[in-house]
Amino acid sequence: MASRLITVDTFDFIAFGGTGDLARRKLLPSLYFRDCAGQIDGASRIIATARSHMTSEAYRELAKTAIETHVKPEERDANGLARFLARLEYVSVDVNGEDGWDELANLLKPNESRIRVFYLATAPELFGTISAKLGAHGMVTHQARVVVEKPVGKSLASAKVVNDAVGQVFAEQQIYRIDHYLGKETVQNLMALRFANALFEPVWNAAHIDHVQITVAESIGVEGRGGYYDTAGALRDMVQNHMLQLLCLVAMEPPAAFDADAVRDEKLKILKSLKPINESNVGQLTVRGQYEAGASAQGPVPGYLEEIGASQSSNETFVALKAEIANWRWAGTPFYLRSGKRLAQRVSEIVVAFRPIPHSIFDASAGPIQPNQLVIRLQPDEGVKLQIMIKDPGPGGMRLRAVPLDMSFAESFGERNPDAYERLVMDVVRGNPTLFMRRDEVEAAWHWVDPILEAWASTNMAPRLYRAGTWGPSAGVALVERDGRTWHEDGI
Ligand code: NAP
Repeated sequence: MASRLITVDTFDFIAFGGTGDLARRKLLPSLYFRDCAGQIDGASRIIATARSHMTSEAYRELAKTAIETHVKPEERDANGLARFLARLEYVSVDVNGEDGWDELANLLKPNESRIRVFYLATAPELFGTISAKLGAHGMVTHQARVVVEKPVGKSLASAKVVNDAVGQVFAEQQIYRIDHYLGKETVQNLMALRFANALFEPVWNAAHIDHVQITVAESIGVEGRGGYYDTAGALRDMVQNHMLQLLCLVAMEPPAAFDADAVRDEKLKILKSLKPINESNVGQLTVRGQYEAGASAQGPVPGYLEEIGASQSSNETFVALKAEIANWRWAGTPFYLRSGKRLAQRVSEIVVAFRPIPHSIFDASAGPIQPNQLVIRLQPDEGVKLQIMIKDPGPGGMRLRAVPLDMSFAESFGERNPDAYERLVMDVVRGNPTLFMRRDEVEAAWHWVDPILEAWASTNMAPRLYRAGTWGPSAGVALVERDGRTWHEDGI
């Protein structure tokens, strides 16, 4: 089925940090694809800023290289690229100084009634200053929106500082806190599966679901981001935002409508229902790990300390935890979360493990009956699989076999699978914040995560070492096996 294109109104997109990694890898390619698809009208402009001094012409060269590097040759279009590059302008702005702000304001002034998207692809410490300067220079119009990248803070207190600073200038409805996981096709499909089918919702509760697993595993290490990562760790970097958001979408009650506040109200209730993890139970419910030297598919790889150039660090590159939701729907159904770097495989998935059947009518010769599982794969190979039991075809009596009903999106739809940023950036222009995090959600997530961090510190819970290229420390496996369960392995 061909995708439906909804064009957006004319806009000015202002990228702070326009020369950075995120801009090159994600923002420029995403805007380029949307432009090639015909979603952006001829008058819309993209204005990049950073401290570096360069002409708009030089920036277009930088953007061209970024697109040639990050867009596959078969997906490039020379005419489309020329049209896209012609939209780009560059202004040198030092966020901490006065240079460049008037120039930027003058550039925007002729289009005061236009939609304006300020995308803050800079270090989070600059979010407050950028907002204040935009306000002081009169650039925050009625039609202005601001996109804030993660991380929003490193704790509840610091998240409040960032939110307060941005909130001084922008109203909450103008603030788009991006979590690119929410823009993934499969994540939205989770909502379609749950709320556009009569099949799942009646069994979507503790009576029928044994447990849920959410895995976000990376095979790479810190990749030059060691400075940031060593002050963050896996819990802050992955669990506080992406994984808790996924947990919310699995666990939330059906919202009254698929609109921003209805969806976010339901997610917030889940975050507030998470049972606290603190000093009294952190040792039973969480596992920290740190990789040492090992091997990836490409060959030997160094350990974390060597990668960040430090002789010691108590930072975790792996976390596994057992979360419980204290409400009627989920009481007694654990949500196991695990995330780490340098793991055996790059995979992000949600596994909904149903309870075993209450009674088997088949005798032992039919073989074991495996409980149903719904596997929602976010990457790689986005898709959904439902494992069911069938009779093994052919003669030989009643023998049972587990098979997956498989919906791989790439195969099913045969089109390029757009990057999450493409959808999310267009949602900002359209003024649709459904897939972005509201302030109270971010703060509720920190409210749950902060005591875990504090308990790790107060109990001196050091990370356990694991070999790069494995599934993390054995304690991570024991966390679920203690409960008589196992982590999902690929290949159902
Ligand atoms: P980066 O590569 O370090 O880029 C930072 C950008 O900010 C550069 O364009 C830099 O250009 C500019 N900048 C730095 N100081 C400035 C100042 N005082 N005034 C104006 N511009 C300044 O960072 P990044 O990896 O793109 O990350 C940007 C943001 O996105 C961060 O909040 C990060 O946490 C978040 N994020 C990134 C990724 C990713 O994959 N990269 C993923 C998720 C979230 P100049 O040095 O020329 O000023």
